[in-house]
Amino acid sequence: TTFDFNHLITEVVEDLQRTTEKHNLIEDLQPTGFIHADRERISQVLVNFITNAIKYSPHTKNIIINTHLNNDEVVVSVQDFGIGISKEKQQRVFEQFYRVSGETQHTFPGLGLGLYISSEIIKREGGRIWVESEEGQGSIFYFSLPVRKPVDHNN
Ligand code: ATP
Ligand code: MG
Repeated sequence: TTFDFNHLITEVVEDLQRTTEKHNLIEDLQPTGFIHADRERISQVLVNFITNAIKYSPHTKNIIINTHLNNDEVVVSVQDFGIGISKEKQQRVFEQFYRVSGETQHTFPGLGLGLYISSEIIKREGGRIWVESEEGQGSIFYFSLPVRKPVDHNN
């Protein structure tokens, strides 16, 4: 289906804001237009990112959701100021059943599936998924999706 990207973001953010009083979900949405993708699955990826941001930032309030256009793709990022992920573990978080071990593993329940499923969805849609993080400072999770250019029948 074709859908208004920022409209989907706002819908998910409003739903999830209702689940937490501790956190403030802040939207920073640049114009991104319409995209062609599986709306339900893309919304699931966003839910996975934001529920992680909430779960792994127990002592900070703000979570920033940004969208923007970058050449031929829309990019969305979810930034938290929570526990962060060390450099050597950052690539592994997209693996099936991977969870950063140690104290956090016991503190925060989970299966280690959300990001694996998210990366499968985004790959299938032709996009990219990645993370930037600093241990103890917070994380920014990103995904992008291709924007289909309108077909110009005069060419
Ligand atoms: P679930 O299957 O319920 O999503 P999960 O949250 O543990 O369980 P993923 O969402 O796949 O699994 O995340 C994998 C691991 O990556 C997490 O266990 C956690 O260690 C780390 N992680 C994910 N998001 C964040 C984040 N925003 N900040 C810090 N660590 C994170
Ligand atoms: Mg998760």
